[in-house]
Amino acid sequence: MIRHSTLPKLAQCAKYESDPVAGPAAERGTKMDAAYRALLMGQPVPVNLETEELEAVMWAVDTARDLADGAYIEADEAKLKVTTPGLDHTGTEDSRCEDENMSFDLKTGQMRSYYEQMAAYALGNLERQFTEHFDQQRLNESTWTCVLLFCDQREFTRIEFTYATAKAVVDGVLEAVNDPNAQPTACEYCSWCRKADTCVARTGPVVETAALVQAETSLEAIRAGLLADPAKLGLFLQKAAIFEKELVKPLKDATKELLAADTEVPGWKLQVSKGAEHFDRIAVVSAAVRGKSGLDDLVAAMGGDMKGEAYRAWCAKLGVPVNENDAKRDMGTTRLVADKPKKARKAA
Ligand code: SF4
Repeated sequence: MIRHSTLPKLAQCAKYESDPVAGPAAERGTKMDAAYRALLMGQPVPVNLETEELEAVMWAVDTARDLADGAYIEADEAKLKVTTPGLDHTGTEDSRCEDENMSFDLKTGQMRSYYEQMAAYALGNLERQFTEHFDQQRLNESTWTCVLLFCDQREFTRIEFTYATAKAVVDGVLEAVNDPNAQPTACEYCSWCRKADTCVARTGPVVETAALVQAETSLEAIRAGLLADPAKLGLFLQKAAIFEKELVKPLKDATKELLAADTEVPGWKLQVSKGAEHFDRIAVVSAAVRGKSGLDDLVAAMGGDMKGEAYRAWCAKLGVPVNENDAKRDMGTTRLVADKPKKARKAA
């Protein structure tokens, strides 16, 4: 059965299959969802959370309330079920504001798109609310907004769907999944896929990269051949990244564990470096008071400069405006990154 939450993964790889074992990140997300719903309903938080997790959830609650603009937000899990045309699975939203045609999804961990999952929620909500009352044209134009609350980053993304757009997105994913010729496509979700260790899209590049490096030709010839063909070069870098991430890194991690357990791995050893020494905020302030340090002397001793984001947050906390003429900017850097399509739009 295709779950609502699987749609973004299937949009990247039509052969994706969820790993049934929930990792610690998913368990953390479930706990924070429970806290988010409880806080919205004014109930005691039913789970144990670290202070920063609770603060992150409280940010999400405040943000949802701001966006709902005073309208009632439903947070009772039993009343948040969503049935989406084309999906057998019944989804569950984290909270919903019917008056604003808006639903909210709390997200923990890394920021991702979730576009297709949100489209499925929007489609289900629009179907429930309007199909009985609107003709097809009016239904196609009716809108639903999904808000992703990335609580660890304190950022939100708002995506407005029309019925027609949401349906096209969901149907597009289902069509790709049902295509008998669909092929696996290595993507950011591979490590969550139950086929991660056997999938040809991942084993193939590893084998090919190893074969290329072992080929009886010089490395210079390999480099020249790749540089002469940008399409081949791009593909090679993509495969080499998979080789590094899926083979070299896990093997290095495992080698560290073997060495730590006194198993000999010829040619390798563990090198322990001492952790850097530091003194905490209380020690710094205490020394400054005892030594009657001036502010300038203290700031200079701590390295002088402050990162832009921290400085702006500090000024906001003090309630003083930032003098933009004081801002100094380093030379930017240019990094090589994989070019992936972005679908979700950032809130204004
Ligand atoms: S492991 Fe294979 S099937 Fe799974 S998501 Fe990656 S490419 Fe797709």
